[in-house]
Amino acid sequence: MEKTDLIIIGGGAAGLMAGCAAGELGLKALVLERKHKPGRKLLMCGNARCNLTTNISEGRMLQMFGKPVDTFMESAIHAFTPSMLQRWFAANGLRTVVKAGNKVYPHTERASDVLNLFTAQLRDKNVSFACSSVVQSLNKIKNGFRVSLENFEVESRYVLIATGGISYPKTGSVGEGQVWAKKLGHTIESFRPGLVGFEVDSSVLKVRVGKIYKKARVEIIVAGKKIEETRGVYEIEKWGIGGTAITDASRIISRQNLKDFTLRIKLDTGETEEIRPLRTRPIKEAMVTVGGVALDEINFKTMESKKCSGLYFAGEVIDIDGPTGGYNLQAAFSTARLAVASIGKQCGKGAFHSLEKPKKQWIRK
Ligand SMILES: Cc1cc2nc3c(=O)[nH]c(=O)nc-3n(C[C@H](O)[C@H](O)[C@H](O)COP(=O)(O)OP(=O)(O)OC[C@H]3O[C@@H](n4cnc5c(N)ncnc54)[C@H](O)[C@@H]3O)c2cc1C
Repeated sequence: MEKTDLIIIGGGAAGLMAGCAAGELGLKALVLERKHKPGRKLLMCGNARCNLTTNISEGRMLQMFGKPVDTFMESAIHAFTPSMLQRWFAANGLRTVVKAGNKVYPHTERASDVLNLFTAQLRDKNVSFACSSVVQSLNKIKNGFRVSLENFEVESRYVLIATGGISYPKTGSVGEGQVWAKKLGHTIESFRPGLVGFEVDSSVLKVRVGKIYKKARVEIIVAGKKIEETRGVYEIEKWGIGGTAITDASRIISRQNLKDFTLRIKLDTGETEEIRPLRTRPIKEAMVTVGGVALDEINFKTMESKKCSGLYFAGEVIDIDGPTGGYNLQAAFSTARLAVASIGKQCGKGAFHSLEKPKKQWIRK
């Protein structure tokens, strides 16, 4: 039977970054991806331009995740900050650019270039990578794990589950990682759609379908009081309302399990409207899944399970989600690198090359 240090299940944003990180540390690692090509969701990111992160401080980024994700993400964001992310891509041959709203993209504004960078890095760093490899089960054995696929089994000391959430299931993320996690003793927080539009009464849409307001403010109103506010684009679709101001509000509403609320929408034209949505669009259309492996069952300093030693998690399989603007890819990349750094430490490997900003050299005149 094949044996390796680390099996990474999932070749999406988190799994690909974890594979590269394992290669950087010289770990013997294997990445398994169910689809015949990796990174299907990554290719869709930012309308195929790939909004990698937001160029803000660590503190501000954590604040933007909101509770309870902010405290869970502290060590991960510290280990791989938004500026380290930009330096990592540049050091590996893909410069990034900062666009409106501090959004960071690859300078080519092509998600395919991000994916190509990852696959090239895996090749260069001798990380084994297998597509069309659907993991069917994951079992704890003495000193490690047994991962079973249709035609073969492989064993490792450590496993990193990076199988994503359950939105856009055609990209391969269907929630299997959460099923294995549950079997291994974890609580799975219920799945809700994050970053999605709302269906509304057709009378609200009137003749405005297709209209886009670029600068709207959306207040979430509960019992007559504003509890949160989002800003961004507001769009009238044929099925309801969308745009970043609305989708960001949907994530907050799902996270707080709000049932009775209205949205007060302040338009750039000076008009205000108050809407009571009928329902969100289905979770398969959401850009991110709220829910997943419970935060308090994962050590936030290492990403290792508190229930099953040697098992690690990264990315959307965990109950983490962020607003639009690159927060979700940053979360996937940061949790992946922290998990691999922790595994590397266990295996007696050194640390990653520093991505800290070089200190200014002061020359005394
Ligand atoms: C349309 C769209 C646009 C988005 N745009 C942005 C953006 O611009 N910026 C941003 O920050 N975020 C964006 N997001 C969110 C972001 O894409 C996700 O948060 C991120 O991809 C999650 O990464 P992940 O690796 O955890 O999961 P995924 O990317 O979903 O990867 C999981 C992988 O695991 C594989 N897998 C699952 N089960 C198995 C199994 N049994 N065996 C083997 N492999 C398996 C899947 O095939 C998949 O490739 C967007 C999402 C969508 C849907």
